Amino acid sequence: MIHFLPSYDTEAPGCLEGVKNIVRVHERLQAPATFFIVARLLEEKKSEYQALLKDNPLFEIACHTYTHMPLVDTPRFGKAGTPDRYHRELVESKKLLEDTFETPVVGFRTPVGAPDGLRGKEEALSVLRQAGYTYISSAAWGPDFSLPAPLRSPFTYAEEGYPELWEIPVCGWHENLLKGHNVKQPILLLLFPVQMPEAVPQDYVRTPEEEFRYNSKPFIDLAVREQVPEVNFAWHPWSLTILDPNMRMVEMTINYARENELRLSTFSELRAALQTRPNG
Ligand SMILES: [Zn+2]
Repeated sequence: MIHFLPSYDTEAPGCLEGVKNIVRVHERLQAPATFFIVARLLEEKKSEYQALLKDNPLFEIACHTYTHMPLVDTPRFGKAGTPDRYHRELVESKKLLEDTFETPVVGFRTPVGAPDGLRGKEEALSVLRQAGYTYISSAAWGPDFSLPAPLRSPFTYAEEGYPELWEIPVCGWHENLLKGHNVKQPILLLLFPVQMPEAVPQDYVRTPEEEFRYNSKPFIDLAVREQVPEVNFAWHPWSLTILDPNMRMVEMTINYARENELRLSTFSELRAALQTRPNG
C-alpha cells in the first residue's frame, strides 16, 4: 500500500485565499489533506481558518511553528532559530492550534526543512517529543540542499533516543522555487549528475500541466516502481494560488494518484500504519 499525503504549508497572509481554493477542490474530490499551519496566522484570521478547516473529517491540523522559524541552518534560506525559542515555536504553537481547532495536533513540519531532517538535533527532538508530537516532516532536500528532494521512506529517530518519533520525508520540488515565486534570480539548486531528468524542467514551470508533468507525475511513478510507503510534496497555498487558483495541478495529482491505486491519507493516518511496521 502506497499512501499519497496531500499537504499544505500554511505560512503567509496569502495562504488564506489559497486554502479557500484548496478546501473547495478537496471537498469536491472527497480527498483528505493535512494543513501544517504557522500559528501566528491565527492571531488575525482565527475565525476564517476555523470556518474553512475546523470539524472537517477530511482534514488534519498540524504545526509549522509559531513564526516559521527554521530548526536547521540552510545555506540560502536562513539560519536556525535558537533553542530559547523552542517553547514558543514548538509547544505554544501546538497549544494554540489545538485550542483553535479543538483537535489534538500530533504532527510537525519544519520550516524550510533539511536534507536529513532533524537527524542529530537532539535538543529539538526532545522538545518535540515531550510536547506530544508523534511524527515530524522535515527531510525535504537532496544532498547539499539540492532539489528535487529524493523519494525516501519514513524512518524513526531511534538513533537519537526517540524510536516512537517518526520522520515522514517530503519529495520533489518546493513548488514555490519551481515557479520562481519567492526567489526571482537563478539560484544553485540542481545536483550534477542530474538524478531524475524527468523531474527537471529547463525553466520555471508556468502552467498547472507543467507542474504536474515535472513534479507530481515523476514521483508518483517512482513510488509505484519502488513500492515506497508514501509520497508527499512541499505545497504552499500562497504560491499554488498565484499560478493556479482553481487548483488544477492538485486535482490532476489526486486523480493520478487514485488511478495508480495510491491510498489518499492524512499524515496521522500514515503514522498509525507505521506503528506496526519494522523500522526501515
Ligand atoms: Zn514553510
